[in-house]
Amino acid sequence: MKILFAAAEALPFIKVGGLGDVASALPKALAEKGHDVRVVLPLYSSIKPEMREKCHYLKYFYFMHGWRNSYCGIFEAEIDGVTYYLIDNEYYFKRRAPYGEYDDGERFAYFSRAVLEILPQVDFFPDIIHANDWHTAAVPVYLDAQYRGREGYEYIKTVFSIHNIEFQGKYGMETLESVFALPSDWAPVVEHDGCMNLMKGAIERANAVTTVSETYASEILDPYFSFGLDSILRPRQFKLSGIINGIDMKTFDPASDPAIPVHYSLKTRKDKVKNKLALQKELGLREDKDVPMIGMVGRLTSQKGIDLLYPIMEELMKKDVQLVILGTGYPEIEDFFRFCDAAYHDKVRAMITFSASMAQKIYAGADLFLMPSKSEPCGLAQMISMRYGTIPVVHAVGGLKDTVIPYNPEAGTGTGVNFQSYNAWDMYNAIERALDIWYDPVSRDKIMVNAMSGDYSWKKSAEKYIRLYQSV
Ligand code: ADP
Repeated sequence: MKILFAAAEALPFIKVGGLGDVASALPKALAEKGHDVRVVLPLYSSIKPEMREKCHYLKYFYFMHGWRNSYCGIFEAEIDGVTYYLIDNEYYFKRRAPYGEYDDGERFAYFSRAVLEILPQVDFFPDIIHANDWHTAAVPVYLDAQYRGREGYEYIKTVFSIHNIEFQGKYGMETLESVFALPSDWAPVVEHDGCMNLMKGAIERANAVTTVSETYASEILDPYFSFGLDSILRPRQFKLSGIINGIDMKTFDPASDPAIPVHYSLKTRKDKVKNKLALQKELGLREDKDVPMIGMVGRLTSQKGIDLLYPIMEELMKKDVQLVILGTGYPEIEDFFRFCDAAYHDKVRAMITFSASMAQKIYAGADLFLMPSKSEPCGLAQMISMRYGTIPVVHAVGGLKDTVIPYNPEAGTGTGVNFQSYNAWDMYNAIERALDIWYDPVSRDKIMVNAMSGDYSWKKSAEKYIRLYQSV
């Protein structure tokens, strides 16, 4: 099959969240199965020079987007059997960061159209275009509205994946023609609650809609999780499915991870503790293998359930534990962790930054990994932590529910600890249960073995995507 994967971020070029991991690991897994997979993403100026050097210039052309005649440069790179096309337009992509600009709607409208416009330019008409999240949600809409009649586009099928339903690409209806260059008779397709809603348009037009875990696929049919789209999704359940993400088992391997000080595997798992000692030393925390270290890595937003920490922090800090946080996000949450770092400096380190290598050191060094997300489409961090033998403590929602098997001390089964209701003291109780497991040497070893021997690879999920592509 010929598959074009359209995403706003993809490793190894650029990553803001889990989408960046998925947009490289899934295409790679599909390519390994013999499919011709190509990925298209914007050539942001924030892509590191060493990665930019890996891209070679292919060509440029202009295309009409509404009344604008827009420049479109195409750069190409070949990585792990996957061809990457990077769309060059400095007006739209020479910015501080991939997202968060006043004109994001226009930027990704341009990008979505570019995804379709480059096909004849690179002579690649795929069987499937797989679009992801709101940034490329306009692709299935543009395809049906404006490209079907053109040669090569007639039989392309589309799959749209929701990685996070919170961000839908909502704009005023007055932008329909001016910014999004859609004809006025397409307003009903993209209109929802009186606004342009790109994700709604993609849900309506794509041949299949997926989300990144089975539980999240059913959760988003409920207003509590759907951010207003449940009424759109419920009548389209026939084409909605959930396929869990995997992680790149080679990149995230404690036996070879270049970012961690001491390598270890299932066999040599006793060496894991050396990473904790190294991290304690690096961060100036008490160097003691017997103090449990709780790690947190992630975006510091309300979705990640950080508000559950506010009421329990004082109580948690009465325990002999260390807490290491790495993340960036909402200023008030960043400030909360800065405060904790200052107030409990003998126990807490908050690193308000993005650092892939520090993230790895935390996955390897921590004993528990806390992820109390209010909602979690899939979540990669809990899978990485299990791969590194770190006990995840999670709220049982979405992908967290599907990937973390609660530890059963009687049977010795399970890979982590979860709590059911979104409540601070339930979370606190889960942390206490995880600490009990950790303090008991037999349970600690058992849960580590269970977690580290789990299969978090893309193998099974890639096969599910292939079956889905074939079905459409
Ligand atoms: P989301 O996609 O909602 O951000 P996921 O758990 O699916 O959450 O994926 C987040 C990914 O980004 C993980 O690989 C995590 O390690 C990484 N990550 C998040 N924040 C940071 C950070 N500040 N520094 C390094 N890596 C981070």
